[in-house]
This record gives sequence, C-alpha cells and structure tokens, in this order.
Amino acid sequence: MHNDLVAALDIGGTKIAGALVDGSGGIHARAQRPTPAREDGETVMGAVAAVLGELRRSPHWLRVAAVGIGSAGPVDASAGAVSPVNIPGWRGFPLVDRVRRATGGLPVELVGDGVAMTAAEHWQGAARGYDNALCMVVSTGVGGGLVLGGRLHPGPTGNAGHIGHISVDLDGDLCPCGSRGCVERIASGPNIARRALEEGWRPGEDGDATAAAVAAAAAAGDPVAAASFERAAQALAAAIAATATLVEIRIAVIGGGVAGAGEVLFAPLRRALQDYARLSFVQGLVVAPALTGTDAGLLGAAAAVSPRLRGGAAATAAG
Ligand SMILES: [Zn+2]
Repeated sequence: MHNDLVAALDIGGTKIAGALVDGSGGIHARAQRPTPAREDGETVMGAVAAVLGELRRSPHWLRVAAVGIGSAGPVDASAGAVSPVNIPGWRGFPLVDRVRRATGGLPVELVGDGVAMTAAEHWQGAARGYDNALCMVVSTGVGGGLVLGGRLHPGPTGNAGHIGHISVDLDGDLCPCGSRGCVERIASGPNIARRALEEGWRPGEDGDATAAAVAAAAAAGDPVAAASFERAAQALAAAIAATATLVEIRIAVIGGGVAGAGEVLFAPLRRALQDYARLSFVQGLVVAPALTGTDAGLLGAAAAVSPRLRGGAAATAAG
C-alpha cells in the first residue's frame, strides 16, 4: 500500500522522537535523539534532521504521505513556527518550512504537544468514542487540548485547550506566563512538591522531593502531602468545570507524570468537581486517566495531520 503512513515528530525539551505511523496506530520505524536544548537553534534543528534522516533510511519511508509535528509550546501553527519555553534557541523558529525541506517537500502539519496528546487519546485512548473531550497533561507543566463536535480543535495557532494557563486564583501567585493563579502554578508536579515542602512535608531518607515522592507520602497517610494534592485537584477541577460549562465536554482525560499518583489525585479531583461543576449539563462529567502512555506524542502528531494532507494515511484518526 502507498501513502498510508505519517511521519510523526514529538519534540520536547529532553528528547526529539520520530516514528512512521500507520492508520491503525501501528509504528513501523522509530528514531530518537536527545534535545540539545541549551544549544543554538541550528544545532537543535540538526537533531530533528538526524531523526528524519534515520526515518528516511527505513524501507517504509516510500509510504509516507505527510509529516505531523507535536511540539512543546508555544507553537504558531498559522505561521509554521515554534518558540518552546524550554528550547531558548528556537524563538519563532520556522520549523514547518525546515521539516518540509528536510523531507523533500512533504506536507507538514504542526500542533502543540497538548493538542497532540489529545489527538492520541481521542484516537486510541480514554477519549475514544467521545465527541466532546478535554485532555490534559499534568507534569512539569500543565497542557491540554480539546475535541469538539467529534473533531480535534487545535485553534488557529495550534494552542487551543491550553488549560494550564487559565487563572483559577484571581490574586494568586505570579505565573511565569505573566498571569496570576494559573492552574499550572498550583497543579504542576514542581508546584505540588514546592507547596508540600513549604507546609512542612519532608522527603524520606532518599531525599526524593518530587511530586511522585509527595504522592507516595500522601498514599501512606501524610496529611500535608495529601493536602498539596488536594489543592492541585481543586485547581484542576475548577478549570475542568469551567471548560465543561463553556463547551460542554463529557470527559476530562488526565495524563502526564502527576496523573501517575492515581487515586491520590483522582479521588480529591472527583470530589472537587462536585463542588465546581454544578449546572445540570456539566454534572456527570467523566474523569479518566490517559491510556496512550509514552507514545502519546507520536500517535497524536500522526493523528493531528488533517485528512486533506494525509490522503489515505491514518484515516481512522480523522474521527
Ligand atoms: Zn500562567
């Protein structure tokens, strides 16, 4: 079969991953490089080119119809440019044009990583079968994306659904984005850990002071650790309820490292949603952990390529 594959790129602050993905989510080749995030822009592009070069050496490359990119944000899909916060060498970097040239002129589609994860969850994960969904990544930062009316909703610049920078605390702490009281400022892993330490929680003998260690302490009954997760859950619930009220989502899917805390996060989150999601049409909102795991970025980058560009490839991802 020809033109049935999408070359997917997942670009983050620590690694650049690539794969050839078929219409069922099957992966036919992989390549990966560490992101030289502290180097200049051309060096970072060199790592992208190395990943693409390795994929091009696959015998399956001839079947590739289009390239899908999910990148750390902010992205500007309308300009084909990216400015990832954690890759300072790329500011307004013309990634779409450079990838098009590196692949012999293939069509290229760019979305933010939160939108890519959402496309993956809608295609293969917990949001499958839902026409209206919010998917979130809660880890070092908090990102997200929307499925509305059965279709991915990236927005004009590829950033729609970026729920981490909705304010849920009007006079709250300054956020690096410039606003105050953002969801990310309360619910990201580093902020969960920071708050627990400020309130008197102390790491165990291994010195691990990450959100995962706070989650383990909470699961073991530490009230300060549990309170930090409850506060994060409250922020997430307020943002999810706001989203549901605005656009009538039926499910909120949560992935990322912090979601690995399991019921330490999900139990208070479901309770807090009872407090914030009050109107009749937002009650009964489903909250579920993400299912697509480490390949979410690659599957999502493939799924986010519009049917117009990809021809027959990944056709089932259009849903
Ligand atoms: Zn913010």
